[in-house]
Amino acid sequence: MDLQELKSHRRGLMIILSSPSGAGKTTLTRQLLSENQKMTMSVSATTRKPRPGEIDGKDYFFVSKEEFSNMIDEDEFLEHAKVFDNYYGTPRGPVEEALSQGHDVIFDIDWQGAQQLTQAASDDLVKIFVLPPNMQELEKRLRSRAQDSDDVIARRMSKSEAEISHWAEYDYVIVNEDIDLAMAELSAVIIAERQKRKRQLWLGPFVKSLVQGG
Ligand code: 5GP
Repeated sequence: MDLQELKSHRRGLMIILSSPSGAGKTTLTRQLLSENQKMTMSVSATTRKPRPGEIDGKDYFFVSKEEFSNMIDEDEFLEHAKVFDNYYGTPRGPVEEALSQGHDVIFDIDWQGAQQLTQAASDDLVKIFVLPPNMQELEKRLRSRAQDSDDVIARRMSKSEAEISHWAEYDYVIVNEDIDLAMAELSAVIIAERQKRKRQLWLGPFVKSLVQGG
């Protein structure tokens, strides 16, 4: 019996990472993806304009309001929400495909998306909230991106407090003061969640053959 082959028969996790903008979620996500081959990022559709350096199809699918509302009508979203003045949504197809192949999927979505996915797919979900060590650090990180105007940054800061108020709806909370420590904590959560009995579909056949002396 090939243990590695058996172990690959597992349910993929749906990992929601929410945080106020600037808490370090993007860095954490990139590192997770580079360390885990069987992990994919859900690419959302948005009506917001691309920031410099953002790539259509990689960072987001940048769509018009009309295209977005057609996608809603065609039931193409797992969840969708209005964040700031724009619409954001998670396309259903790629997520279902990745999960069926036993891949974990990371969602960079806000608390509204987390609530909607909880209703739709709670068994596969792991909800993680990333907090900044303090609000000054958050503002500093937002400013160092130098991509948004003062006005936008001020609005993002005030929205951050609203986002943070939903921290208790998450399974895990990581305070990102030190990126290496935060990464270690995040990896520990994911490793533990993968070990949950209900997610290891291969255990039944494995134990059966174990007791039969296979
Ligand atoms: P940004 O415009 O900075 O890329 O994202 C703004 C906010 O929208 C972030 O809090 C992000 O997590 C959230 N967001 C991005 N994609 C989605 C999505 O598909 N659904 C929901 N509900 N929120 C999203």
